[in-house]
Amino acid sequence: MRAPAGSLVRYDRLFVGGEWVAPLDGGLVESIDPATGLPWAEVGFGGPRDIDRAVAAAREAFEGPWRRMPGWERAALLRRLADLYREHAGEMAVLESRDSGRAIREARADLGAHHHWYQWFASLADKISGRTIPMDDTVHCFTTRVPVGVVGAITPWNAPMLTTTWKVAPALAAGCTVVLKPAEQTPVTALELARLIEKAGFPPGVFNVVPGYGRDAGARLVAHPGVDKIAFTGEGRTAKTILRNGADNLKRFSFELGGKAPHIIFADADVDQAVNAATSSAWAVCGQSCALGSRVLVERPIYDRVVAAFAERARKVRVGMPLDETTHMGPQAHAEQLDKTLSYIKIGRSEGAELIAGGGRLTDGPLANGYFVAPTVFANVANEMRIAREEIFGPVAALIPFSGEEEAVAIANDTTYGLTAGLWTRDVGRAHRVSARIQAGIVWVNTYRYIRWSTPYGGFKASGWGRENGLEALDNFLETRTTVVSTTGQFPDAYAQ
Ligand code: NDP
Repeated sequence: MRAPAGSLVRYDRLFVGGEWVAPLDGGLVESIDPATGLPWAEVGFGGPRDIDRAVAAAREAFEGPWRRMPGWERAALLRRLADLYREHAGEMAVLESRDSGRAIREARADLGAHHHWYQWFASLADKISGRTIPMDDTVHCFTTRVPVGVVGAITPWNAPMLTTTWKVAPALAAGCTVVLKPAEQTPVTALELARLIEKAGFPPGVFNVVPGYGRDAGARLVAHPGVDKIAFTGEGRTAKTILRNGADNLKRFSFELGGKAPHIIFADADVDQAVNAATSSAWAVCGQSCALGSRVLVERPIYDRVVAAFAERARKVRVGMPLDETTHMGPQAHAEQLDKTLSYIKIGRSEGAELIAGGGRLTDGPLANGYFVAPTVFANVANEMRIAREEIFGPVAALIPFSGEEEAVAIANDTTYGLTAGLWTRDVGRAHRVSARIQAGIVWVNTYRYIRWSTPYGGFKASGWGRENGLEALDNFLETRTTVVSTTGQFPDAYAQ
């Protein structure tokens, strides 16, 4: 499946029904290394007929061996997968780094933790149970939780394996089968995951991967009548298209969409710690994460101090080649994202925000042809500006001043998004008061981006539907069946009188 092809690494097969097959509809597509702007791999892309094949395989597995397999056996397979994942996380991190441009130290830390998801959801696979519902002694009433069926998983390019893990681990634990369509820019690690799933010994068809274009393979997966549920991470605009295309057979949807998180620093906070968190979460993943605190709200008495600290920290960020161990921040993951970030930097300037660090592309030496951007900081940002309202997905922090709790909460909630938020204060009462008023799926107090397999994650408002991670993640992949059994077997004749 993986073979050198000249100087390019070749992944020319799809993983369908437990076999490595050539695409029926697509062809070989080059995957670009965003650090050099040059292709580094060739990947077989599938189209509608490949999706049809994969869905048929997933359906057969779902109706056959997977449905019959008891939860504890599914758990054992997931544990085997967790062990394999841990063993291969280092190599997968290198591949993700090449495909997405993510700094290797960051990719290693991220992928190095994914096995925990498989372990944790394995431990739930044999504990999925319903309730007994007390009525009266004429009936015994209970619920059973049953897998929703065939899941279409559609993932983005910014954190390819993380977004995949968050779907695949709970879906398999719940007893669903999966067809995965990774982002066109970052398909490689999805195929490596298929290799691990094959090695772990999952029945054929339980997990399938069809790299391809969203408009083509993705659209077919969404519209396919044999797919029961779509689990999607990506842009809100795409989610709306998916909703329309999947409406015909009323399939289930869960959406993890964008964010414009407020990261609030009150004057009574431990400012050094808050700056550590706010700067690291401004530029992690080169700014390409929905969870980042892209709006940093700073109380006026400490505003100048925080602005100066941001400018100083920006100078310390080592932007460089992703596989260099010393690099803090790699390039943007693809050329369109580079253009988008640069255009927002222009917009910020024209809106009157004060540029205090970065503000342009970096092209020195080895960075010449890559998609590198300097860590960028805008001060004196008003929440009405586009750089504070729209998701940039680049390493651009917007520092917004505020006075007091009321204004902090008003600015924090004045957004169409509601994914994550952070606040820093030493006042425990304020921590509770403010966090309870923030419209976001997760609020961090005196920390930021604490995300684990067991902590539910997902959006209020336009940031999504449903939750990934935690016990709640299983709900995405289960239906509830209520069974009512009469203890008397008596049913009155409605027409007796
Ligand atoms: P997109 O919405 O452009 O793409 C996401 C996936 O959807 C890709 O695999 C894409 O394929 C596919 N797709 C595109 N069009 C269709 C279609 N018509 N039918 C089915 N599938 C389709 O998002 P990005 O890849 O640009 O990812 C960035 C976005 O993801 C950001 O907005 C970010 O906030 C969000 N995100 C949210 C997270 C969360 O947990 N809430 C986490 C990470 C990211 P193709 O690659 O071919 O376009």
